[in-house]
Amino acid sequence: MIYQPPFWQEPRKTAFESVVKEIDGDKVVLEETYFHPEEGGQPADKGTINGYQVKDVQKVDGVIVHWVEKNDLEVGEEVEGFIDEKFRYYCMRAHTGAHLVYGAGRKVMGDISYAGFDIGKEKARIDFETDTHVDNKKLLKLEELCNRVILENRPVRWKVLDREEIESSDEIAFAKEIPEGEKVRIIEVEDWDKGVCSGTHLENTIEVGRIRIEGKKKLQEGVTRIFFSVAEKALRKDYIDKKAVLRTTDILETGTRDMPKKIRALQSKLETMEKKVDELESERIEQEMENFDRYGSENFNLLVQTLSTEDVEKLSHKAKEEIGNDEIMIIINERETVSLIVGVGEDVEDISANRIIRSVSQEFGGGGGGTDRFAQGGGFNVDIDNLKEFVINLLI
Ligand SMILES: [Zn+2]
Repeated sequence: MIYQPPFWQEPRKTAFESVVKEIDGDKVVLEETYFHPEEGGQPADKGTINGYQVKDVQKVDGVIVHWVEKNDLEVGEEVEGFIDEKFRYYCMRAHTGAHLVYGAGRKVMGDISYAGFDIGKEKARIDFETDTHVDNKKLLKLEELCNRVILENRPVRWKVLDREEIESSDEIAFAKEIPEGEKVRIIEVEDWDKGVCSGTHLENTIEVGRIRIEGKKKLQEGVTRIFFSVAEKALRKDYIDKKAVLRTTDILETGTRDMPKKIRALQSKLETMEKKVDELESERIEQEMENFDRYGSENFNLLVQTLSTEDVEKLSHKAKEEIGNDEIMIIINERETVSLIVGVGEDVEDISANRIIRSVSQEFGGGGGGTDRFAQGGGFNVDIDNLKEFVINLLI
């Protein structure tokens, strides 16, 4: 006969009396316990035995073992157990919620299998084996179905069945491997989900309160994890989201439903403006490039320009285009730091753009590089006029 822990029949009982059966250090076994061990994704109950904190509850070789803080309990002693009611109730809600999400998953994703479950502090997760791509639309549908079933207040029942009965049924889900033994425990949310489960549940769906699908994560090909929160945890997140939405509608001066439309309109306006700014900046750079300071030398013409632009890429591109064969072009750009572009025309001999950048870096820090014909650098610790003077002295 399968061992049927008392919390299966009475999940709401959180105060009980029992007798210490075995003690080994901090490990305590009772004749009978209502403490749920960490099992099947449900965390261990919290609580006390004769006032001593229960730190953990695990099933060891089929026996429920309590890890109790330093105590003077003795074998044969009568004890009182108290289970943290709030935490147990949260687990009952989350566990019942998982059955609702699973049932909804079958409807939304079609052919699914159960691949794991866990109740966390803020949210729970359930893993589905499915080839269906779970997009936002499907997540919304899952949430809608779950909350509809909550409001319908369907009964939740549990019973112990013969193993054969379960193996011949294809509607029983929520556990890939049926635990060993002749008898198996089944949880059933009326006309919604039927699965093998050893956890603690509510007797109805309405007490789940609210389910919020928090998101998904693709664990591997064919396995998708769905995160969900229940009851107060879900409501608190609703509130936080609503606050953010209201703040956004205030900023956008629009209603909730028009938010996406308004944001898209702003995005498109921004793109147009960026394009315009880009064009104006191009024009400005072109104009400035017509006003180089020119210095003559026997072997080349030196052109020097100082300016300020963020669009260094455009500047560098333009410089490359404009260098005459007998010219050396120096562009000093001052933005957050001072940067330098050096171009050396094809007919100019014995002068390397790369070497000029290196000399500047040696003198003023920063860095950069390039070829003999074209190089650029930046991060120099010098002001624009002193750099100009330095480079001119270097060349003439
Ligand atoms: Zn369950």
